Amino acid sequence: STAPVTVIGLGLMGQALAGAFLKAGHPTTVWNRTAAKADKLVAEGARLAPTAGEALRASPLTIICVTDYEVVRELLSEGDGEGGLAGTTVINLTSGTSAQAREAAQWAGRREARYLDGAIMAVPPVIGTPEAVILHSGPRADFEAHEGTLGALGTLTYLGEDLGLASLYDAAGLVMMWSVLNAWLQGTAMVKTAGVDAATFAPFAQQLATEVAGWLPGYAGQVDKGSFPAEVSALETDVRAMAHLVEESEAVGVNAEWPRLIKAIADRAIAAGHGKEQYPVLIEEFSTSQEGD
Ligand code: NDP
Repeated sequence: STAPVTVIGLGLMGQALAGAFLKAGHPTTVWNRTAAKADKLVAEGARLAPTAGEALRASPLTIICVTDYEVVRELLSEGDGEGGLAGTTVINLTSGTSAQAREAAQWAGRREARYLDGAIMAVPPVIGTPEAVILHSGPRADFEAHEGTLGALGTLTYLGEDLGLASLYDAAGLVMMWSVLNAWLQGTAMVKTAGVDAATFAPFAQQLATEVAGWLPGYAGQVDKGSFPAEVSALETDVRAMAHLVEESEAVGVNAEWPRLIKAIADRAIAAGHGKEQYPVLIEEFSTSQEGD
């Protein structure tokens, strides 16, 4: 389909989004505070709206992708007051928290806009390819109404009606990413002390990460049942290996913060009497906010 679409916010990400819509043949209206960032897109066929309010009114669907939710509200307000938001669907791809997403949805709803919240799990260069995963949450009918247009951006995932889900998954994805990268960097720092370079260690690390990832579905079953029989290893056995990790890190003189944190969390679970259970019992540690949070 080649439905018209508006993109508000032409930073690195917004330009990529608008470019993907143009490439897919959608009549695309754009607006950005710094108008010059629209030049390249206008040369490719985009129409530059003079104000954010006019951009909002130019298409039945508006994608907004700016620095934060405060800016989103400021810009959507420009379309307000003249009945500008009634009948409009806004999809907010700006990063934020789940609470901000739910609040923005309420705000938009009071102004009679349809609102979906999204999160982009990709960098600008892959937008418009299947590699770009874009999460959406909000009313299913509104998502389905625009699925064809949104498909130009990448691989769409609809998470559910709860407006906060896209932001939650976004953050949950970030902790996966940084945890894997931190683990790899810790290991790399350790083997480097014996003269092994990062490229030599990387395939070993990659294979381990893949193997561990394979445990997740089974472990998720334990978490969902709330039952953690030690089928392959008991936490008290794991903690001995953690002590060894801390000791080795300290002995070779690399940063031991991350190993110590791993051990500290497991130690607490053991102190709470979970030593004979399996690793996912730590979900209890992760599910309660700690003092000082
Ligand atoms: P940029 O900093 O490149 O762009 C920010 C955009 O917000 C610009 O269009 C800027 O306008 C606009 N803006 C900021 N303040 C105001 C204001 N007061 N009034 C009007 N417009 C304003 O950021 P990105 O494009 O990289 O990121 C945008 C969103 O996309 C963020 O929420 C980010 O987290 C998310 N994202 C980005 C990814 C990336 O790799 N870049 C990956 C995944 C998500 P102006 O040009 O005039 O300054």
